[in-house]
This record gives sequence, structure tokens and C-alpha cells, in this order.
Amino acid sequence: MAVGLFIASLADGDHGTIRSRLQDAAVSARLSRAMRSGAIEVFYQPIFRVGDGALESVEALVRWRRPDGHYVSPASFVPAAERTGVIGRIDRFVLTRAVSAARELADAGRPVSISVNFSAVTLARPALEQSVRHLLETHDLDPRFLQVEITESALVDDLTTVVRHVEALRTLGVRIAIDDFGAGHASLNYLQHFPADVVKLDRTFLTTAADDGRSRRLLEGVVDMCARLHMAVVAEGVESTDQLALIREANVSLVQGFLLGRPGPLQELRASLDLPDRRPSQHDPST
Ligand code: C2E
Ligand code: MG
Ligand code: MG
Ligand code: MG
Repeated sequence: MAVGLFIASLADGDHGTIRSRLQDAAVSARLSRAMRSGAIEVFYQPIFRVGDGALESVEALVRWRRPDGHYVSPASFVPAAERTGVIGRIDRFVLTRAVSAARELADAGRPVSISVNFSAVTLARPALEQSVRHLLETHDLDPRFLQVEITESALVDDLTTVVRHVEALRTLGVRIAIDDFGAGHASLNYLQHFPADVVKLDRTFLTTAADDGRSRRLLEGVVDMCARLHMAVVAEGVESTDQLALIREANVSLVQGFLLGRPGPLQELRASLDLPDRRPSQHDPST
């Protein structure tokens, strides 16, 4: 009620901002509750080598399970989580789960690299490198089994801090990927300075390249440029055999998309590796 009166007393132009701040705060509070109650989960999507079809790695993707069993897409809550800062805790949660999954798979004799997404908020954390190192040491996991994906937009804010943290992670042995490449901002400029091992081509690249010769040559040019900079290329969002043929022709080496595998719970990944079900009967108390 008091909030309602407060909003009513504002000038017209302020309404939208205040309302969206209140919505953000509500989403953030619900996310915090969801994390405590175990409703935040991690799905894994396979990434394959184009050449021989072997599993190269998996990407960890956050999921919010509603009481009715449906999953809320991160696209609908990650932006609010970023604006309120709660994404920092989500990223840490996903990272912890991912590292422990990588440890388990290595123990089972099926080592798999795991890729996590770090938002700008996480990349700005002062003790980022120490906490990642500590986590890897605790799980006795070789850092080369961990990859961190950074969206182009995270590089726009404070490039110096981000580059410093990314360089520290890379020195540790963690691999760095530029996510959603080509979807947003001035990319070529920072490719020069940014220490990445992998470039993930945004799926919009494929949707245009499929039926347009100019886009196709652009795709080939980007792949060529990445090769010269010793960066591997992942094509994201491959949904059709035509798109698979297209990226094969363009010499893209890695592929991720619904055509080859959707994100699923860890149990699905275990099953695809012929490992037995290890689903715990209760929530893992360590997370
Ligand atoms: P992203 O990092 O670019 O992840 C790839 C997204 O593309 C995932 O969406 C995945 O499900 C989707 N995708 C994969 N293959 C296909 C395909 O063939 N077709 C289509 N249409 N989509 C495909 P998802 O899981 O909904 O995640 C959306 C975004 O949310 C991610 O994009 C990432 O930016 C963000 N996100 C997800 N998990 C985390 C997290 O733990 N931390 C942070 N900071 N962001 C996350
Ligand atoms: Mg990603
Ligand atoms: Mg992406
Ligand atoms: Mg993204």
C-alpha cells in the first residue's frame, strides 16, 4: 500500500523505472528463495566435434524448476538477476555443481570438460580467481576441464578489470570462451586484446548464413580469422542438417544445438556416457 502511494506520487516518466525496479527486486527475492529450497538446477548440453562426432564438452545452463515441474527459461530471469546482482550467487552455484559433476565423471572414467557462463557481475568480483582456484583444488580437478564463457556484452562495461580477471583464470589453466559472438557489440576491436581460447558463434549467424551467400562468406571469414588467432570455433544453435552441412563446409570444428542434443539434467549426461544412475535421494547438502 505504502509503495502504491509512493508510485502514485511520482511524475509520469518515473513510473516505468520504479515499477521495473520493484519487479527486479521481487524476481531477485524469489530466486534467493528458490536457491535455498533446491529449485535452482543445472542442465548440461553436449558440444560435439564436427569431424568425428565425439563429445568434446558440455555447457552448464541454469534452470529454475517451478512447483508444477515446469522449468523457467534463464532468458526470463537472468537479466533481472544481473540487474540486482543475485546472478553472482547463481553463477557460483552453477560453477560448484559443474566442477563437482566434472569430478564425478572423471572418477567414473569418463572425463568431460564443462563450460560455465559468467556474467559481468561475476567477472567483476575481486576474489574471483582465488575462489575458482580454491574450488578446483578442493575437487582436485585439472583446470583444463573447466571453461568459462563470457558474453560480449560483459566485455563492454569495464574491459580492464574483466581482462585482468580473465587473464588470471587463463594463467590458472581455465579455458576462456567468447559467447554469442557476432550478436552484439564491436567485437573485432577487443578480439585483439582479449585472451580467449574459443569463440562461440551466435546462432543468428547460422539463420542468416543458410540462405545468403554474403553471410556465408562472412561465416567463412570469421572461422578463418579465429584459426589465425588460434581460437577454436563452436557453432551454437544448430537445429537442422542443412545448418550442420553449412558449418562443416565453413570448417567450424565444434557444434552445439538441438539437432544433436538438448540441455538435460546430469542424469541424462550420465546415461549418454553409459554411466549408472547416481541420483541422490535428497538434496546435496554441499550446495
Ligand atoms: P548461452 O550461454 O548462449 O547458452 C546457449 C543457449 O542456447 C541455451 O539457452 C541453450 O538451451 C540454447 N540452445 C542450444 N541449442 C539450441 C538450438 O539448437 N536452438 C535454440 N533455439 N536454442 C539453443 P538457455 O539455457 O535458455 O540459456 C539462455 C542464456 O541464459 C544463456 O545463453 C546464457 O547467456 C544465460 N545463462 C544460462 N545459464 C547461466 C548461468 O549459469 N549463468 C549466467 N550468468 N548466465 C546463464
Ligand atoms: Mg553460454
Ligand atoms: Mg551463446
Ligand atoms: Mg547468451
